[in-house]
This record gives sequence, structure tokens and C-alpha cells, in this order.
Amino acid sequence: MRKNIVAGNWKMNKTLQEGVQLAAEVRKQVEASGALKCEVVLAPPFIHLTEVCKVVAGSGIGVSAQNCAAETSGAYTGEVSAAMIQSIGCAYTLIGHSERRSYYGDTDQILSKKVKMALANGLKPIFCIGEVLAERESGIHFEVVKSQLEKGLFDLTTEEFQNIVLAYEPVWAIGTGKTASSAQAQEIHAFIRRTIELKYGAQVAQNTTILYGGSCNDANAAELFACPDVDGGLIGGASLVAEKFIKIAQAF
Ligand code: PEP
Repeated sequence: MRKNIVAGNWKMNKTLQEGVQLAAEVRKQVEASGALKCEVVLAPPFIHLTEVCKVVAGSGIGVSAQNCAAETSGAYTGEVSAAMIQSIGCAYTLIGHSERRSYYGDTDQILSKKVKMALANGLKPIFCIGEVLAERESGIHFEVVKSQLEKGLFDLTTEEFQNIVLAYEPVWAIGTGKTASSAQAQEIHAFIRRTIELKYGAQVAQNTTILYGGSCNDANAAELFACPDVDGGLIGGASLVAEKFIKIAQAF
């Protein structure tokens, strides 16, 4: 059975001290919640990762980077490798967030290299896909996500693909306060699962975790997570306040 995940993408927010405090608060509230029906994952900025790993150690909370280098090691000033991320205890890395695609030139080809680098170093990629508003309005959103899947992931072996977590994030919903309706989310998540099925077979498709992201919050999470093909959320703004974030994790 596939795993439900609620992952908090802190983006470029919080000083180290604030981040440690937030992670400690999330841990406290996760432990006070009793058994949650999802894995909670935190994706803080790179320089917070070591400390956040220590704060959540032994709690079952996962830690993710927000990006990783496409190269192994060497003269790549400013980059952080998958091996480095794995060496401090992270289990995941986001790859292909729309902000990386649009502001930092992460093309499908680069993302495909990053995915392979993450997998080769024992990290699970949380691979983000999603269309911009003009693509949704012109009705090509299905082709857009299919192409992102094919170019970023579909040269993986079945064994490799089983370590991928997907996050469908319509770009028009990220940080805008506009959320996809549960019907829109279910429709495209089912399409993504069907696309995976055609490539890797029904069992792999059924076992793939597909998260929804885009202005998901404690008021709309329960309706989104009730969709049969939505297996949790990638949460931006609402992950910066422990109480709101935990309410989302409790929404299953
Ligand atoms: C995100 O950036 O992954 C995201 C979903 O952001 P927000 O929840 O703020 O829309």
C-alpha cells in the first residue's frame, strides 16, 4: 500500500534559530497527536538540515532537502550534492519545484540528472510537476504533466521508480491562495497514476504516492485528501506555523 505524506516546504524562510524552534514544535505536536495516518516530512533550507535532523531524530518525522546538485562532486560553487544531503540523515529531496524550474533554469534534462543523482545516493526524490495558468486555460495541462513525467522520470527502471514520490502542484495555485478544487485535483492525480500505470504497470502505479500542492491549508486539506488519488500534500506557506501544519497532517 502507498504511504500518505504531508511535507512542509519552508522555502527561503526562517533563521536557523527559528527553524530549530519550528521543527521542535512540530515534533512536540506530532508526538501529542498520537498515531497520524501520514508521514510528516520537513524540507527546511540547506543550512538548517543538520540541526533539524537532530531535532527530529527518533520521532519518525522525515527530513528533505529542497534541491540537490546534478553533479557528483567537484568545482560547482554553491551547489550541495545528494551524497552530502544523505550523509546528514535526510531521506528525501525535492526535485523540480516550479520555483526551481522557473527562476533557476532547472530544465527537464537537468532534473532527470538530479533524480538519478538522488537515487544513486539513497535519497527519495519528491518530484514536482504541474502546469502554469495559461496551460490550464488552454486545456493542455494533461499533456504538460505527461511530458514532465516522461522527460524527468520515465527512463528510470521500475526498481528506481518505486523510490519516487510525486507532487502535483498547479503553478497557478502555489502561494496564490487559489487551490485546485478537489474535483480538479482528483482528475489530474488519476491521470498521473494512469500515465504511470501505462509505463510501469498497475502495481507500481497503485503504490506511488502522489501529493497535491498549491495553497493547501488546514481548511481545505481534508477535502483534498479524501480524493482517492491524493495521498497527502506538499505544503508551503501553511507549513511555517506548527499548529496549522499539524492540523493538515491530522486531516486524513
Ligand atoms: C509549494 O511551494 O510547494 C507550495 C505548495 O506552496 P503554498 O502551499 O504556499 O502554495
